[in-house]
Amino acid sequence: MENCLVRVNYLVIVILLTVLSSCSPGELNKLLLVSFDGFRWDYLQRVTTPNFDALIKDGVQVKHVENVYITKTYPNHYTMVTGLYAESHGIVANEMYDPSLNQAFSMNKMDVYDSRWWDEAEPLWVTNQRAGHRSGAVMWPGSDVEIRGTYPTHYLLYNSSVSFEVRVQKLIDWFKSKEAINFGVLYWEEPDESGHSLGPESPLMNAVITDIDEKLGFLVEQLKSAGLFDTMNIIITSDHGMTAMSTEKIIELDNYVNGDLYTIIDKSPVVAILPKEGKFDEVYSALVNKNPNMTVYNREDIPDHYNYKQNARIMPIIIEAKEGWTIVQNKNGTFMLGNHGYDNRLPSMHPLFVAHGPAFRQGYKKDGMRSVDLYPLMCSILGIQPSPNNGSLSNVQDLLKQTHPTQPIPHIPQVRESSYAWVLGVLLGIALVIGFLIGFVKQVTDRQLSVVPHTNLEIVQPLLQADLHL
Ligand SMILES: [Zn+2]
Repeated sequence: MENCLVRVNYLVIVILLTVLSSCSPGELNKLLLVSFDGFRWDYLQRVTTPNFDALIKDGVQVKHVENVYITKTYPNHYTMVTGLYAESHGIVANEMYDPSLNQAFSMNKMDVYDSRWWDEAEPLWVTNQRAGHRSGAVMWPGSDVEIRGTYPTHYLLYNSSVSFEVRVQKLIDWFKSKEAINFGVLYWEEPDESGHSLGPESPLMNAVITDIDEKLGFLVEQLKSAGLFDTMNIIITSDHGMTAMSTEKIIELDNYVNGDLYTIIDKSPVVAILPKEGKFDEVYSALVNKNPNMTVYNREDIPDHYNYKQNARIMPIIIEAKEGWTIVQNKNGTFMLGNHGYDNRLPSMHPLFVAHGPAFRQGYKKDGMRSVDLYPLMCSILGIQPSPNNGSLSNVQDLLKQTHPTQPIPHIPQVRESSYAWVLGVLLGIALVIGFLIGFVKQVTDRQLSVVPHTNLEIVQPLLQADLHL
């Protein structure tokens, strides 16, 4: 009888595992979004980039991406993961002031950890988690902040001294873990820093671009070693480009208006001016039409194509420098050889876009796209419902394989139905097994109570409990 019970218990385990495996949901599409800060689209033409070339050959390339105004780091990184213009997601600059909060924000200070700056939008890692999936974020702006009550499933606190190799390893660990992520974001500070200090046209930038290509090669090699490359969708892009500056092209505001009448909230090349109370007219009239290399906007008159008006964090006066020009209060400030932030229609402000993976076509090239379209594209790959956004999947649908589902909206019911069916199947299977076991044990104990080995029952019970937590 003891041998018989062992065999029955073995049978029960086999049945249980069969039920569980037959009900498991399909593997989720994986997506890794990588930003090399300040990687101008035409840097790829400067030096040989074999690792980029390999991805492009078997994937897709969009020649350049029209990003959003202002073409600065924080606004554009938040656009990529929300599909919203800066006026809609609320991160309107790297340096901001919110009149209703009566607080200032600087990307270099602890203000970045105040959720209220970010809560006007929901980033994709949060949406992905609301759909029941897991996200991992390495240093992406905003990804170490609690947004709408949620952090990424896995994330690292921002620390610029963490090497690229360590960042990659973290992401791979999360993609490989037992409770794997399906969506990861990875940020790297170069070539932006070198572009600012050297100027984008400097021959020294060639080595910086080569280094980025080698870092991409490292990422691909690590994905291959981990057995992730063939199933991973990878998007390599950036937040903005870079243009050359000149010490001959400097505008000093002190030449036009008394500095005591206003506060500079954000710096060149799009200077955000907050006039002192009652001083708007005086400041505006002193600046408007005074220099052909700067355009002075009353916020209400900012052109519609900038989509940069409808937010209280956009200051009452915005001064935009012409490309290559720098606006300062006076020449006491620091000067950079390269900068970005200018008109988002300028090619020099545009980043690159390269993608590779099972969702993407192979060897396909496209002239341009908008960065707001990246978000619906990623939602489609992940199979999740996009939040309201300014992008359009139809603008970038051609990047995807035709077999890829064309409408993301049905995905959510499918995902949920699949989850419910899986849970229902597991519960039904467990109920059947328990019922069978109880019936069998009862029959045995009725016949021969004294020889029932209780330890055999204890093997099944923990298994049942453990599997219920899967
Ligand atoms: Zn940047």
